[in-house]
Amino acid sequence: MNITKVDHIGIAVTNLDDTIKFYEETLGIACHGVETVDEQKVKVAFFPVGDTEMEFLESTSEDGPIAKFIENNKGRGGIQHIALRVPNIVKAIAEMKAKGVTMIDETPRYGAGGAKIAFCHPKSTGGILLELCERE
Ligand code: ZN
Repeated sequence: MNITKVDHIGIAVTNLDDTIKFYEETLGIACHGVETVDEQKVKVAFFPVGDTEMEFLESTSEDGPIAKFIENNKGRGGIQHIALRVPNIVKAIAEMKAKGVTMIDETPRYGAGGAKIAFCHPKSTGGILLELCERE
């Protein structure tokens, strides 16, 4: 595998506005934008820090994956996934499958910020939701 960096950390939150306020005002990190991704039923706020990024995710629907994560986490937010940058996501998916990893996404899909992404199933990764991520 060719993993070049931790692209971002995906963090589920219950209130995106409060989160943005905390990270901007208390920690002094600038929010670089907010995007709604309807397909994943999330509103995402981007906070680049150094060479990587925190992505805060608020569910836009009661049945979305972030809503389910929070429900399973006793109503609290928390780290939901780790995204690893790969130069070629199609190749990375094929390599993962060849190594016996179960992919949630066998073909790349659209990710927040214009990335191409694919999730690996946590049952293949020791319980961590890993995202492969390719960006221009
Ligand atoms: Zn992500």
